[in-house]
Amino acid sequence: VKPTVAIVGRPNVGKSTIFNRIVGERISIVEDTSGVTRDRIYADAEWLGRDFALIDTGGITLEDEPLNVQIRQQAQIAIEEADVIIMITSVKEGVTYEDQQVAPILFKSGKPVILAVNKADNPELRNDIFEFYSLGLGDPFPISGSHGLGLGDVLDEALKYF
Ligand code: GDP
Ligand code: MG
Repeated sequence: VKPTVAIVGRPNVGKSTIFNRIVGERISIVEDTSGVTRDRIYADAEWLGRDFALIDTGGITLEDEPLNVQIRQQAQIAIEEADVIIMITSVKEGVTYEDQQVAPILFKSGKPVILAVNKADNPELRNDIFEFYSLGLGDPFPISGSHGLGLGDVLDEALKYF
């Protein structure tokens, strides 16, 4: 059985962008607006010769549910399905209310959680990630999905739990 890695995070932090980067094909739909239901959410991926399944829980949308309910249900799905969870946030907006809602749910699950701070596109932005320690999920990993930066470090960390 392949290990499963789930990507969790509020809309627009770059989950689909990162999913596509890791999978290596443009199979998940990246949108500027949230609430896109067409996303492909499961794919086979590989890192350093290790195969795993990747889930973009942001693609699982429950129409008519408020955003905070959807995000919590996506976190629950990640907790049930995944061996390792990657929580994505964005350095552009900093720590948000939704981030603060999701982080303790993931932490309490006891599943390994890797905290990735996306949109850290340059060294200056990478210096702004320290506020993310406040989420209580350990060291934040600066990444840039659109530039392909830092994803290797996140996947190295994920591999430790397989
Ligand atoms: P999702 O809703 O979390 O799946 O986010 P998407 O992957 O659809 O991306 C939302 C927006 O953020 C799009 O406009 C992306 O181009 C943009 N984006 C994604 N990753 C990065 C990044 O590393 N840096 C910057 N500056 N923008 C990004
Ligand atoms: Mg998406």
